[in-house]
Amino acid sequence: MMASALWHGFADMGAVEKNGAFVVSRGEGAYIWDREGTRYLDATAGLWFTNVGHGRTEIADAVAAQLSKIAHFSNFGDFVPETTQVLAERLAAIAPVAGSKIFFTSGGSDSVDTAAKLARRYWHEVGQPEKAIIVGRQKAYHGMHVAGTALAGIPVNREGYGELMADAATVGWDDAKSLLELIERVGANKIAAFFAEPIIGAGGVYLPPEGYLAEVRDICREHDILFVVDEVVTGFGRIGGEWFASTRFDLQPDMMTTAKGLTSGYVPMGAVFIAPRVAEPFYAGSWWRHGYTYGGHAGAAAAAMANLDILERENLLAESKRLEASLHTHLQPLAEHPRVAEVRSGLGAVAAVQLVDPAEALPFVKTLREHGISGRAAGQGAMQISPTFVMTDDQVAEMAAGILAALG
Ligand code: PLP
Repeated sequence: MMASALWHGFADMGAVEKNGAFVVSRGEGAYIWDREGTRYLDATAGLWFTNVGHGRTEIADAVAAQLSKIAHFSNFGDFVPETTQVLAERLAAIAPVAGSKIFFTSGGSDSVDTAAKLARRYWHEVGQPEKAIIVGRQKAYHGMHVAGTALAGIPVNREGYGELMADAATVGWDDAKSLLELIERVGANKIAAFFAEPIIGAGGVYLPPEGYLAEVRDICREHDILFVVDEVVTGFGRIGGEWFASTRFDLQPDMMTTAKGLTSGYVPMGAVFIAPRVAEPFYAGSWWRHGYTYGGHAGAAAAAMANLDILERENLLAESKRLEASLHTHLQPLAEHPRVAEVRSGLGAVAAVQLVDPAEALPFVKTLREHGISGRAAGQGAMQISPTFVMTDDQVAEMAAGILAALG
């Protein structure tokens, strides 16, 4: 007999059934508590998203007030909830490309598939429908909808479905030349868009090689390929010191996909930032048959507004930059441990402690819990570190000590 009705995402359900679930009941700042009342330092901010920290009643109150007024209505046609309209203006004001339009979604996978569809639709609209290939990178994670799965650079995430999307291609994750080679091989006139995470996240936290992002930006420009920057993880401050990696590195994306930190995960929401060039044909007589019932949900928009208020009022982008240095200082010494292959850190409020043996990753997550840390494995045996921006330097030291203790 099955012990639980819940089928977890990305899980060995046989093992979950056997060992039980890790049931989280409460959160406050950088800590969470399980159902038994045990406290853990949250090394990952949930799934990379709790940028402002847990337990912000200010966001809960803003959502409650919005739901009492009107929960949601529609963002199709000329309808829009008032709060959603205000949020779009606020996001446009911080967009990496001036004059960007904001298309709301319900999460990161929605944002990616929205951008992939719009890339093709754009070329269709401007009379070049043969520009259809969408390019991703090895190690890439772009969510689990059809286009995002087709673009996955993590082969196991793509296997077993047949061809999900025709004309998807993969290039090396760290080498702009491999993008150039693809362009030479198939022709720029066949390529619609190139998708890149500024920092490879779920693929194991791989930082971009020096100059890589500017190089692929320039290659896309030169060959008239849309440059889509997936900032679902890096956006809303996680890159450190700036709203987006696209602003920190002047990436001038044609489209930027976001979710997670937009609401700090208090309520699901995503947004695609669309540069004027891509939006223009659809504001000049043509229209795009695409949208989501809950895209721009009014309650989510209220959460986003309150979340942005907190990020601004408490200077949390600067705190994320502080964490960039703090994680580097406290975690790099772990690279000396024989069970650790390397520590990847030094850009944004993210890091990875790469285990030598990837098979140790899942048991290690359990050992970490015994040392008061809630962690998670990403990529091939990497411990994902992506704390909330309110984690103090002392808590970073506590986390590093907990990881060291768990390494034994
Ligand atoms: N893109 C990136 C870079 C992500 O890291 C994720 C999720 O982790 C997604 C897209 C998909 O987002 P979601 O899980 O909200 O659909």
